[in-house]
Amino acid sequence: MKPALLLFSSLLISQNVIAQAPALPVEVQSHVDSVMPQVIDWRRDFHEHPELGNREFRTAGIIADHLRSLGMDVTTDVAHTGVVGILQGGRPGPVVALRADMDALPVEEQVDLPFASQVRTQYNGQEVGVMHACGHDNHMAILMGAASVLAEMRETLPGTVMFIFQPAEEGAPAGEEGGAELMIEEGLFDDIRPDAVFGLHVWPIPAGQIAVREGGTMASSDSFNIRVQGQQTHGAAPWAGIDPIVVASQIVLGLQTIPSRQLDSTLTPSIVTVGAINGGLRSNIIPDSVEMIGTLRTFDADTRQQIHERVERTAKQIASSAGASAEVDINLGYPVTYNDPELTRKMSDTLQRVAGENFTEANLITGAEDFSYYANEVPGMFFFLGIAADDPEMVYPNHSPYFYADESALPVGVQAMTALALDFLEGN
Ligand SMILES: [Zn+2]
Ligand SMILES: [Zn+2]
Repeated sequence: MKPALLLFSSLLISQNVIAQAPALPVEVQSHVDSVMPQVIDWRRDFHEHPELGNREFRTAGIIADHLRSLGMDVTTDVAHTGVVGILQGGRPGPVVALRADMDALPVEEQVDLPFASQVRTQYNGQEVGVMHACGHDNHMAILMGAASVLAEMRETLPGTVMFIFQPAEEGAPAGEEGGAELMIEEGLFDDIRPDAVFGLHVWPIPAGQIAVREGGTMASSDSFNIRVQGQQTHGAAPWAGIDPIVVASQIVLGLQTIPSRQLDSTLTPSIVTVGAINGGLRSNIIPDSVEMIGTLRTFDADTRQQIHERVERTAKQIASSAGASAEVDINLGYPVTYNDPELTRKMSDTLQRVAGENFTEANLITGAEDFSYYANEVPGMFFFLGIAADDPEMVYPNHSPYFYADESALPVGVQAMTALALDFLEGN
C-alpha cells in the first residue's frame, strides 16, 4: 500500500470480545502448527533478499517451486513476475482466490535483525537500498503456509483455491506497467473466475490483531496537475498582465471548499492536497504561468467522480474569473479498496473466530492498495493483521526504514487465510 498518515492507535475503534471458539478444526490446526517453522524461514529469507517491483525473480522462483511441490497447476511470469497456483479440491464447489503481494521498496533497512536486508540496487537511475518496508515478505510467507495447509486437505476440499502472488503492488518502475491491474489485463480471471477474493496487509496495530470494515476501506488515489496560464509582466505593474500566482493561490483555497463546502461530509470523507506549486523566477517579475500538482483521496466511486469534475470546474472558473486559463489533468491511480458488504459480514465471523478478542473494526485508511482491482472484478475483502511489537519504540509505520514486524502474528495470518478459504468453500 501507499500509506498516508498511519496512526495505529486510531485504527482501533471497537473491541468485540467473544467467547473463545477453536479457530480451525483440530486436524487443520495441526497442519498449521507443523508448517509454521517453514513460514518463519520463508519470511526471513524473503526479508533478507528483497526485490523491487517487476524484479521479483528470485522471490517468484521460490514461490513457484513451493506451489509445484504441493501438486498445484502453476503459471509463472504473469504481469512480469507474478505466480498463480490453482488447487483443485476433490469435491465440486466454488472458487476462492487468496492474494499476496511480492515487492519490496527502495528503502535502506535500519532495523537491527540477523536477517536484515543488505541489498542495494538501481532504481530510476539512483543507487538505493532495498527493504521489505511494507511487510510483503510476511504476506507471501503466510500465503505459502496457507497453501501447504489447504493442499493437505485437497481430497475433501469442496471447490478450488486460486493463489495469487502479485508483483509491483507499490507501483511499477517508471515506464513499465505492473501489479494487479496488469494481472487482470493479462487474463487472470478469464479462465477461472473466483467467487470471492481475500487479501491481508500487515499493519502497525498490536501483533495478532485482525481489523476489517465493510465498504470503502482504503482510498482511491489519483493525482492532478493544474497549469494556470496568465500573462507575464513587471512585478510593479500587475495591471499590464495577468498574475497566475494570485490565481493559483485562489485555486488552492477553492479546491479546499470541495470537501468542506461542496460534498456531503457526513457521508464520506475525502482529501484534496496540493503538494507543489511552481512558478516565477524573481521578486519583480510576474510569471507567465504556474504549475500545481496534488493528490485526491476518496472512499467511493461516486465521490471520486464528483471530485474529478469539481477540481476541474473550480480551477477553470477561478482562472477564468481573472482572465487567466487553467488546464487540468487528472491521472487515475488505484481505485477505492471496497469490501463487499455481504461478503464481509459473512466472513467477519471467521476472522473473529481466528482473532478472538483481538478482532476489531478497522478505521478508514487514506493510503491506497491495488487489491482494489481484484475487488472491482469479483466480491472482495481486504483486512489488516497487526504486527506491532509490545515495545512502542519498535513501532513504525509501513515504508519506514525502521518498519518491524513481530512474527507472533504469522500463525494468526496463516489461520485467517486458511479459515477464510475453508469457510467460504464450505459455506457455498
Ligand atoms: Zn506499501
Ligand atoms: Zn503494502
